[in-house]
Amino acid sequence: MTERLHRQDPYLLEFDAAVLARREHEGRPALVLDRTAFYAESGGQPWDTGTLGDARVLAVVEDGKDVLHVLDHPIAGERVHGRIDAERRRDHMQQHHGQHLLSKAFVDLAQAATVAFHLGSEDTTIDLDRLVAEEPARAAERLANDVVWQARPVRVSTLTAPEARASGVEPPEGVLADIRVVEAEGFDRQPCGGTHPRTTAEVGVVVITSLERYKGGTRVHFVCGSRALAAFARRERVLADLVSTLSAPLGELPAVARKLKDDLALSERRAKGLLERALEGDARRLLAEARGGGPAPTVASPAVVVAAFDGWPAEDLRLLATRVVALAPAVALLGSRSDKAHLVFAQSEGLPNDVPALLKAAVEHLGGRGGGRGNLAQGGGDRVERLDEALAQARAALSARA
Ligand SMILES: [Zn+2]
Repeated sequence: MTERLHRQDPYLLEFDAAVLARREHEGRPALVLDRTAFYAESGGQPWDTGTLGDARVLAVVEDGKDVLHVLDHPIAGERVHGRIDAERRRDHMQQHHGQHLLSKAFVDLAQAATVAFHLGSEDTTIDLDRLVAEEPARAAERLANDVVWQARPVRVSTLTAPEARASGVEPPEGVLADIRVVEAEGFDRQPCGGTHPRTTAEVGVVVITSLERYKGGTRVHFVCGSRALAAFARRERVLADLVSTLSAPLGELPAVARKLKDDLALSERRAKGLLERALEGDARRLLAEARGGGPAPTVASPAVVVAAFDGWPAEDLRLLATRVVALAPAVALLGSRSDKAHLVFAQSEGLPNDVPALLKAAVEHLGGRGGGRGNLAQGGGDRVERLDEALAQARAALSARA
């Protein structure tokens, strides 16, 4: 059994201990000590890191009444000196105690109970059992911060189940004695095995960063203490970048961003109109060239438009092909060279060609794939250098049929 020194003194960062057992945990060496100041992962709070002798402590795991210290390499000797990473411990104390205060504030002001707590390396969350809107959440945040700034003493006591109940704490199910109760004086009392500061003031500040609907309740993302400072610094950097990129003062960023979005939508509408007009012009020009001063095309003698373009997206080819075949009885065999070769074939209503078969033969020549239905088919392949050949073959296949 390992004595948990952090339960008595969460500020103890160095200790000496005797090695009780050497084991292995997930392929790494692990030590069981007679006493430890390392907190093992439990109750939503991650483990401490640090060193034992000259080995790094990578993880600390509860194993019944023992605590396993998982090391990066084995160490010799019957006694070891342990050292806890102070910054990580303080971070966990700030987030965890901040969580106690925020959870209690949600109970008091929004009748919302915390059903889960997660303390990650960046994100900290509590899950509430009901939906809580922005306004009551901000009220809970204010209350938690009031309690932080009142620097109330934090006390830990070990009670029996009846004693716990008498003090208003519901003991964990099936636990009759040695119930560790953490109390922020005059505000909150709950059973907890985690590391907590001497006073609420050490939490620094509690900041809710976002709320989301989660499993019928609310997931509250928040940061405390040094994490709040880091989150503020991160946001400041992003905002400074935006201020500089958009050349607008901080307070005007939302309005400027909205205007940019509106301008972009307008530009996209105009670009679409321009594209349609340009394609209309291209379609008429291609049909006139195909006609070459001859008689107007008919269903019996349709125009055959063959054209290749550089850098056109397949979507634009398709728009042009459908325009060509809408303007006059025609077959359009269009191609484009970009990172790959694109083909779009189309024919007017009432013409007899098997457009998908024609396209299939052409894309196979390009080493690619494609398909379509009825009067429209498209595809492409990697053999860009064969585009003209593929179009000429399709043109020849049409003539052979005619
Ligand atoms: Zn706790």
